[in-house]
This record gives sequence, structure tokens and C-alpha cells, in this order.
Amino acid sequence: MGLVAGIGGCSAPDESGLAEGPEGSLSDEFSTTPGEPNHEEITATALSFLRPDVVAALQVANVATDVEFFLVNANHFDDCNFSGGSQVVSRSQAEAVAQLSPTAATPESDALAIRAFARSLHALQDFYAHTNWIELGGDELVDSSLKPFPLLAPYSTIRSSGFVVVQGTGGPKHPLASRDQAAPYPSSAVVTVKQGRKQSPGLISGTVDYEAGNFCPESVAMTHEELNKDKSTNVERVQQYEAAKTLAILQTEHEWCRLRALTKAKWGTGGVARLDQWVASGATPLACE
Ligand SMILES: [Zn+2]
Repeated sequence: MGLVAGIGGCSAPDESGLAEGPEGSLSDEFSTTPGEPNHEEITATALSFLRPDVVAALQVANVATDVEFFLVNANHFDDCNFSGGSQVVSRSQAEAVAQLSPTAATPESDALAIRAFARSLHALQDFYAHTNWIELGGDELVDSSLKPFPLLAPYSTIRSSGFVVVQGTGGPKHPLASRDQAAPYPSSAVVTVKQGRKQSPGLISGTVDYEAGNFCPESVAMTHEELNKDKSTNVERVQQYEAAKTLAILQTEHEWCRLRALTKAKWGTGGVARLDQWVASGATPLACE
């Protein structure tokens, strides 16, 4: 378990300390941590062809996001911070790629690459659980290119789904966003954005009051409690939970291919060879091209 130990050594917090600390008690009540190992399962299912120690290190670093970035909405796609969330993904993956130089292969650089990649996975897995992507009928990936993850800019249109990113609390420059708050779920989570004569589905995410910065317009805001698909035990949202988890698995698989493509673009086949070493012997890795 060298990779896990390597990561724990530099910045992973002491879990026993957390349980007694103020964050620990807060997280019992409000945490975006679901209380069931969904991030672990999604990661292991999508990347089952990797070495067990690599999968374990990815899981540890992924879940550590909920502790290290407990108060940062961008790392969990909360509070309609889509530009921030998308930058967490693209920057974390750039960090991972930077560690994969073929001439500087060390256990430390592998551990740092794994940690950075895992942070990008955490944010993307949260994307489907914390936004209304599923309630809007989204059944495709938010991005399936092999380029750096795109910026989800306020009021831009996401190409794969046609959903408009609702981010920003009004003002003359922002289009009108509305939803039927009295409708039963999941209709209550369907947001419409009016831009001139055009109406488009509007993408929001749940608000978390202990995280700084809320970019959801009041007219359409829903709390994390109302919108999250973090747990299978949310009886009203079981179907949506399953759909969110399925897309999170597919997105995680895709991110492996994106990581390979970005690594190849930066370092050539020597970089990709380092990623090949993460694959379990005898396993068939995901076909990326
Ligand atoms: Zn999270």
C-alpha cells in the first residue's frame, strides 16, 4: 500500500481527529458525504482494470476531498458554482499530467498524479448527484471529449445536453430562470431559462450554507437537502440516485481516457507508458480509441 501511505504522508487529515473536531460534528448533520461508500464504489467499478493499490489510493484521495475541501463548493459542484467546479476538474487533471513525465517516474510522482486525478473524479461524480442534470432528463455525459475538461461558464450552453448553466444571481445581463416550486419532485427541479424568445433547460446545483459563495439565483435555488442524489436511502429519489450513479461511473471511465489523451499530448507515448503501469497485470484496460 505504498501509494496510499505516500498520499497520507503529505496532507491527508487525521481521521480520528476529524471525528472529534467541529467539522466532524458538522459533517454528521450537513455533510455532502453520503454515509455510504458511493465514491469508492463508482471509482472501483469504473476503473476495475487498475491495480488494487492504485484503486485504493484513488479511493482514499477521492473521499479525502470531502474533508480537505469540506468548505469549498467548487470541489463538489455545489451552490451553482459551475465555472469553479469545471476548473477544479481541468486544473486537477493538468496537475496529474504534470506528474507523469516519463523521465521523472518515482513513487512520489505517481502518488501525486493519483491524488490530483482522484480530486477531478470526486468533483465529476458529485456533478451528477448534486445538480439537476438527471431531473432535466440528462442521459448523456456532460463532456465526452478527450480535450481538457471545458469551462462551464455562466449562462453558456452545454453542448452535449443543450442545458444552460445557471450561475449568477441576476442583474440585467443574466437571463430569467424559473421553476415550479409547488410541483411534485422531480418536476420541481426542472428549471427553465429564457433568453429572448428561446427557452432552454437550466442546470442548477444544490445550495450548501456552510460553503462560501452561493451563485444560485433565488428564483430557482434548491438546497442540497432537496436536490442531492448522494444516498440510495432517499426514498423519493431512488430512481434518480441510480441514474446519477450510472452516469458517474461512465464519466469516471471516460476520465481515464481523457487522462491518457492529455498525458499523451504532453509527454508522448512515454507518459502513457507510466499510466499503463497502473493497469493490473492480466487485466484488459478500457478501450479508449
Ligand atoms: Zn463531495
